[in-house]
Amino acid sequence: MERIKGADLSKLTTLKVGGRADLLVIPNKVEDVRESVLLSREKDVPLFILGGGSNTVFGDVKGIVLWLRRLRGMKVVSSAEGFLVEVMAGTPLSDLVILSVRENLEGIWRLTGFPATVGGAVSMNAGAFGAEMKDFLTSVTFMDWEGNVHRVRAEEIEFSYRRSPFPGIGIVLSCELFLKRSELPVREEITKIRTLRKRTQPVNLPTSGSTFKNPYPRHAGDLLERVGMKGYRSGDIAFSNIHANFLVNLGEGRFEDVVRIIEEAKRRVLEEFGIVLEEEVRIVEDSGSDGWKVL
Ligand SMILES: Cc1cc2nc3c(=O)[nH]c(=O)nc-3n(C[C@H](O)[C@H](O)[C@H](O)COP(=O)(O)OP(=O)(O)OC[C@H]3O[C@@H](n4cnc5c(N)ncnc54)[C@H](O)[C@@H]3O)c2cc1C
Repeated sequence: MERIKGADLSKLTTLKVGGRADLLVIPNKVEDVRESVLLSREKDVPLFILGGGSNTVFGDVKGIVLWLRRLRGMKVVSSAEGFLVEVMAGTPLSDLVILSVRENLEGIWRLTGFPATVGGAVSMNAGAFGAEMKDFLTSVTFMDWEGNVHRVRAEEIEFSYRRSPFPGIGIVLSCELFLKRSELPVREEITKIRTLRKRTQPVNLPTSGSTFKNPYPRHAGDLLERVGMKGYRSGDIAFSNIHANFLVNLGEGRFEDVVRIIEEAKRRVLEEFGIVLEEEVRIVEDSGSDGWKVL
């Protein structure tokens, strides 16, 4: 396990914005995760769980950031119907996408093009092009905030649009998925999605993905565009010219700019449409504590 005091968090998120953490812990095994959970309890300091940092923006963090990137690996059992996959939380989601393309498996290839970990994708119930993480899960193994490990069947877990009970009830350690064999030529289908993403998303700049959830039946990007936020800039942080709901870092973007620009966007959309936009991106700063365990 590695421990870094005063770690620079900007390197750990895809928007490349961030302050410092009192302590960054990088566990190598599940026991290390338990040690951090118990330490945060004993010292009564907040603990933030970080995966790929692709939907997270940090300010300064007065507490522990637990970065799960090293808890990776998967076990695969194949049958005539498909693949049963046990995968650890820190594994890149793209490993599952690659498997699905190689073996022509259903659905999960739709989640291509974002640098998530599997744990982050479960926690956010990540989704794209009609598929969501929950569609493939058979069970999740997690550690609760007292350090106990549980394995629960997927149907017992309440998932909804970009929402799950994690990390509220604990830290996803691994999960099991069933990926059916597909009738579609997956390799061709995924190429279409990748081309579309390149055309409609700012793939060449540091970004944190969707800033706001879509307030059904409206699209956040559309509302933002209508209130003049597309391309709107505060310092080096801007809403992308390509996709109004994606924040991009044009150079030396700062946390304060992210907060300012989000507030401005929410204010305009509320004034114009009476709609309260809800953040999809996790804004994490020392004052944003939700209980003792999760920032
Ligand atoms: C270019 C780009 C495109 C994107 N496109 C999409 C898209 O199409 N669809 C979509 O849904 N998202 C998209 N995203 C957003 C993002 O990739 C997803 O939300 C993803 O699931 C976040 O995973 P992560 O590992 O990076 O999570 P992080 O950003 O590290 O964390 C996000 C949240 O999950 C929690 N978390 C992380 N790991 C765990 C764990 N093991 N146990 C418990 N909680 C955990 C964190 O505490 C935090 O609350 C995009 C992002 C980018 C940069």
